[in-house]
Amino acid sequence: MFRIGIGNDTHRLVAGRPLILGGVKIPCEFGAEGHSDSDVLAHALIDAILGAMADGDIGAHFPDNDSQWKDADSLEMLSRTAMLIRRRDLSFGNADVTIILERPKLRDYIEDMRATVARTLDVDIGRISVKAKTNEGLDAVGRGEAVSAQAIVLLFDKNS
Ligand SMILES: [Zn+2]
Repeated sequence: MFRIGIGNDTHRLVAGRPLILGGVKIPCEFGAEGHSDSDVLAHALIDAILGAMADGDIGAHFPDNDSQWKDADSLEMLSRTAMLIRRRDLSFGNADVTIILERPKLRDYIEDMRATVARTLDVDIGRISVKAKTNEGLDAVGRGEAVSAQAIVLLFDKNS
């Protein structure tokens, strides 16, 4: 049986915060505001995985009022989510992620993000796609006030 899940996440961009995407720190004078390290790629991916398992969402698993996740490394949350996949005897098929950010250009960091996510999920890099685009100057993302990510994930159950 195939199981598909979708996730998306948006964080406000502010001065003085690191910009971390897929566990990769992007050199930049602003970053994403939020409780954890605010890695929108990781958060969208976690929600997509949880969605594929029909097991709630990131807020239920990693509450933002829990001090354990204050400024937390989102890769740690992603790694724990990967453990849930294995615990349910499911296998990871592939993920496709789109980051929407007006600037800076992310092209130079895409391979590093793919490798970092693949390592965290313990899957081959060929199963992880990361794409980046701008919002053509439109709405909050286009004005450079926010960063978004969308993710879709396929899991499969070898036993059914
Ligand atoms: Zn988030």
